Amino acid sequence: MSSSVEQKKGPTRQRKCGFCKSNRDKECGQLLISENQKVAAHHKCMLFSSALVSSHSDNESLGGFSIEDVQKEIKRGTKLMCSLCHCPGATIGCDVKTCHRTYHYHCALHDKAQIREKPSQGIYMVYCRKHKKTAHNSEGTSFSHVSATFQFQEEI
Ligand SMILES: [Zn+2]
Ligand SMILES: [Zn+2]
Ligand SMILES: [Zn+2]
Repeated sequence: MSSSVEQKKGPTRQRKCGFCKSNRDKECGQLLISENQKVAAHHKCMLFSSALVSSHSDNESLGGFSIEDVQKEIKRGTKLMCSLCHCPGATIGCDVKTCHRTYHYHCALHDKAQIREKPSQGIYMVYCRKHKKTAHNSEGTSFSHVSATFQFQEEI
């Protein structure tokens, strides 16, 4: 047996996000990798995933989510096809319950969905292009005297 010195292009698997399968760190935030190297996901891809709720368990966590939950969510994502790119892993659903649109985070951006992010309240929601709220809202009829120009808009 002659051992060739040829350098194997080792299994330096480039880590990609388990959700969007891309390395668009610019759009999706930091790529976080679990200590055991088994799970990798962008911070925003996790934050906006519909079924992922940050937990403060003592177990190993990834960006504030339990690794187990993230793995489950990635698994769930294998059946969710993105409304924009038609690839699986699209766990970020439109917050309108009857709406079936679901995206990858960067696809939501590209589809001009509305991203609502209130980190102080732990609110991370996405409304698809169809359901995004326009300047006027239809609720609060009892406040009809309140000037419409002074709605609480918490935008970043
Ligand atoms: Zn991602
Ligand atoms: Zn997509
Ligand atoms: Zn929608």
